[in-house]
Amino acid sequence: MSRKSLLFTRLTSTFFVGSNTKVVGISSMDPTGMGYVSKTYSSIVGGGEPLNSIEFKAVVKHQSIRKYQPKVIVGGFGAWQLERKKVAERYGVDCVVIGEGVRGCCGIFFRKACNGDALPRVVRVEKSSDNDKVPVIRHAAIHGCVEISRGCGRNCQFCTPTMQKKRDVPLEKIMKEVELTVHEGSDHITLVTEDIFLYGAKDKQFIPNKEAVIKLVRTVAAHKGVKAIQPSHMSLALLFTVQTWLRKSRKSY
Ligand code: SF4
Repeated sequence: MSRKSLLFTRLTSTFFVGSNTKVVGISSMDPTGMGYVSKTYSSIVGGGEPLNSIEFKAVVKHQSIRKYQPKVIVGGFGAWQLERKKVAERYGVDCVVIGEGVRGCCGIFFRKACNGDALPRVVRVEKSSDNDKVPVIRHAAIHGCVEISRGCGRNCQFCTPTMQKKRDVPLEKIMKEVELTVHEGSDHITLVTEDIFLYGAKDKQFIPNKEAVIKLVRTVAAHKGVKAIQPSHMSLALLFTVQTWLRKSRKSY
């Protein structure tokens, strides 16, 4: 797959979707805006359709897709929201891939679509917990995002990350992505995680692994060219546990 074919958004779709386009793949965490974050924020600003839903619709119903009618394959951790036939049809989605596609299964369906073969409406991908199957990113992600863990393990019933087995990305791999991200011009690293305080934690009571978290933060912060780091998520409850580390570590930062 060429780099250009990975750059599809509603803003770039006019440039990349044309008469030769057979298939468009879209990844979404929350295509219909059903996620609790979408619902919470949209209700705070007075209700109405959540932004994730508006943006997803803007992509799948973009004029270039309507005009050239490529097959639309949707994956990502929110793909389950499109599982029902009526919902998929409403959005014009031909194939929904549920689960992590790191084993390369998605290529089969992209080839099928390119050959004009019928696509299954829903594909369930075997769950994988192998970190080594997740490739290192090829180019810097938006906001300098670098994934440090997947899943959460707390199993809240309404939550999509619950569907993923909790596992941490090895520090060595994280640093390869940090290096690439800095090399491509970002001095800001966003550590993508459901909870930074659970990085490296093995405890069934979710007690943080102090050494692992501090080593992670210090190693990333010390990388040449990194001026700022921030986690995507952290649990406020665990702040109670870690506040003593922060006090002790403050001088070192
Ligand atoms: S604590 Fe974990 S399972 Fe619960 S909502 Fe947050 S990420 Fe999801």
